[in-house]
Amino acid sequence: MKLTDAFGRDITYLRLSVTDRCDYRCVYCMAEDMVFLPRAQVLTLEESIEICEAFAELGVNKIRITGGEPLVRRGITTLFEQVGQIDSLNELTLTTNGSQLSKYAQELAQSGVKRINVSLDTLDPEQFTDLTRFGKLQDVLEGIEAARDAGIERVKLNAVILRNRNLDQVLPLVEYALAHELDISFIEEMPLGQVTEHGRQSEFCSSSELRELIGQQYNLSPSDHETGGPSRYWSIAGSGSKIGFISPHSENFCSSCNRVRVTAEGKLLLCLGNENAVDLKAVIRRYPGEREKLKQVIVDAMTVKPEKHHFYEDDAPQIIRFMNATGG
Ligand code: SAM
Ligand code: SF4
Repeated sequence: MKLTDAFGRDITYLRLSVTDRCDYRCVYCMAEDMVFLPRAQVLTLEESIEICEAFAELGVNKIRITGGEPLVRRGITTLFEQVGQIDSLNELTLTTNGSQLSKYAQELAQSGVKRINVSLDTLDPEQFTDLTRFGKLQDVLEGIEAARDAGIERVKLNAVILRNRNLDQVLPLVEYALAHELDISFIEEMPLGQVTEHGRQSEFCSSSELRELIGQQYNLSPSDHETGGPSRYWSIAGSGSKIGFISPHSENFCSSCNRVRVTAEGKLLLCLGNENAVDLKAVIRRYPGEREKLKQVIVDAMTVKPEKHHFYEDDAPQIIRFMNATGG
């Protein structure tokens, strides 16, 4: 059994959210007064591991652990240790805000994590605290260093750029990435959940605008570098760093989609920009230990994977779940 959807796309990549909680409240991701899931509704670590094993048996060869903030989930290193032992996986990775990386980098590296994504939208300490509502920039910078020291080979920065907040940080972030030999991807903000502090449309910066801005200072050329993700990469002459652009609005990448997500409450979400989902937690809790049953439900779910995302309907955002609930 392998996973192929109704449009002939092979699904080989799982993004698994281990919590909807976070120690930050980034303004584009969460409202200030979020209500989080009751613990009993969140997958246990054992259930999460079971899901990873089932997907691996179905040909998934890359798993990204995400959240909320994955490193605030208690016992998370056990999950990395166990999932890291699945032989057929080519890659186990995570997306983190970096706040706890100093503490966990060593254990992550020991579990076989070789590449990680760290979200970093600004190098200005005040702006950082403003954007994250709680965060301290220094923690993240130290976390990135700890990851490199622990032997994690590739650190990629992810930056969401909002026109009236951190557009001025694009060039400093590129400079930082080049100086530290990191890759960096710029992400167009997506209208997931209702945020109150800014209008999504007025803050929008397209990838092409950012490329033009970077191009004024650096010699950018398109690269054929591929990670199987939605980033389209550019390189800068004389540097090994890749500059990526994730453009859910302006450059649709759905035709090559190879991924599905499992939310913290065990919903198999077939597309970030649609609500089609199948409840895997209900299957696991109803039929504990019945791996074949779980696999069959996952295989069947592929038939409802939509062809492409629809963020807006008649100009109004149509996805009401926040990014932290989805698993970024
Ligand atoms: N807490 C971790 C982090 O921040 O890296 C992992 C989860 S977070 C939801 C994953 C990624 O989603 C982050 O890079 C974040 O910047 C991005 N993100 C969150 N809300 C977004 C939105 N509305 N549009 C685009 N990207 C968003
Ligand atoms: Fe937390 Fe990541 Fe969302 Fe920021 S983007 S609030 S760090 S989950």
